[in-house]
Amino acid sequence: MKGISVLGATGSIGTQTLDVLANHRDKFRLVAMSVGKNLALAEEQIHQFKPPLVSVMTDEDRKTLASKVPEGTRVVCGEEGLIEVATAEKAEILVNAVIGSVGLAPTLAAIEAKKTIALANKETLVTAGHLVTEKARENGVKLLPVDSEHSAIFQALQGERMDRLHRIIITASGGSFRDKSRDELNGVTVEDALKHPNWSMGAKITIDSATMMNKGLEVIEAHWLFNLPYEKIDVLLHKESIIHSMVEFVDRSVIAQLGTPDMRVPIQYALSYPDRLEFHKGQQLNLWEVGKLHFAPLDMERFRCMAFAYESGKQGGTMPTVLNAANEEAVELFLNNQLSFLGIEDVIEKALERHERIDSPSLADILHVDQETRAFVHSLIK
Ligand code: NDP
Ligand code: MG
Repeated sequence: MKGISVLGATGSIGTQTLDVLANHRDKFRLVAMSVGKNLALAEEQIHQFKPPLVSVMTDEDRKTLASKVPEGTRVVCGEEGLIEVATAEKAEILVNAVIGSVGLAPTLAAIEAKKTIALANKETLVTAGHLVTEKARENGVKLLPVDSEHSAIFQALQGERMDRLHRIIITASGGSFRDKSRDELNGVTVEDALKHPNWSMGAKITIDSATMMNKGLEVIEAHWLFNLPYEKIDVLLHKESIIHSMVEFVDRSVIAQLGTPDMRVPIQYALSYPDRLEFHKGQQLNLWEVGKLHFAPLDMERFRCMAFAYESGKQGGTMPTVLNAANEEAVELFLNNQLSFLGIEDVIEKALERHERIDSPSLADILHVDQETRAFVHSLIK
């Protein structure tokens, strides 16, 4: 029986993680979870899974929830609460499925507590990849990908030698606006942007998919997870999301991982790794039903966020921290109708341009640059 703790249990990845746990009650037990503001769903989940520890964001919510949960469930709150959940004694694996760089501190704490990390929260690796990977190495802790592309690459690499790898090819669906020209992107609405053609996900990552920043973040995520230079990381447009990504070896052999788009597959693989488990609810892939698969090269001028991500990644230091913080704030502003869709790119570009890079930043540097960048983005809107 593996003990599992989940950060962000009420989100898109979080609820799908709990679904995987519910399908394998003999294998996994939920020992701790955190939620954001969705107390109603949290209450349902607590009654279903009876985790001994739950964290919420505010003390007020802590009091509200504590009065409604079964005996034996302790409710905590705030940043400390996230860390308590991340390091819960009985947990073997932490599934980090919160959104944004709030996931950084709990991830570092979980690594110190020697928890295996199943990482969905890519912003953590983008903002401080060197700190997270270094700490994982020092503590002999595994970072297992949950992101479908990285899970695909990780699966294709099983049993292979990393020095025989020529490159990885991350596939991209292209998001809600993949068939629109740049001109047509003027004036698109939040509602349009939230309609992803293949995946049903949280709002932030759905917008990131439409701007292609999601793919940019994934390139940086891959750089850290697989310890690869950016020259060896390619992106390929593939609108059906059937090939989840590929690896090419030095002998030009290419291995791809395929499947119907369902995040529960990579989530379950991270939890069962190195084993595999049955997935009864999963849909068999019938390629004859799909018929055709399409591919196209990525146009960096059409998708400027991709160019920003490659550039920030290559420059390193605090540049990816700025990229991530500016993007998180810009997306939030767009979702609140305070910024246009193309304004997201402009804001990120300005934040990157003004920043003076710090090399090999400490955790304190990163937290400072993160806050400063967010404040700068808001000053642009005023
Ligand atoms: P959601 O927005 O659906 O869920 C986010 C979760 O984090 C919710 O439980 C939310 O709580 C909680 N949360 C939000 N803000 C805070 C905060 N400040 N402090 C504590 N908890 C908070 O996101 P997704 O599940 O879509 O994405 C989660 C991560 O996984 C992201 O990093 C994303 O990039 C990555 N990912 C997601 C995929 C997907 O298919 N959704 C695919 C691949 C990667 P509440 O809802 O209760 O307010
Ligand atoms: Mg992905």
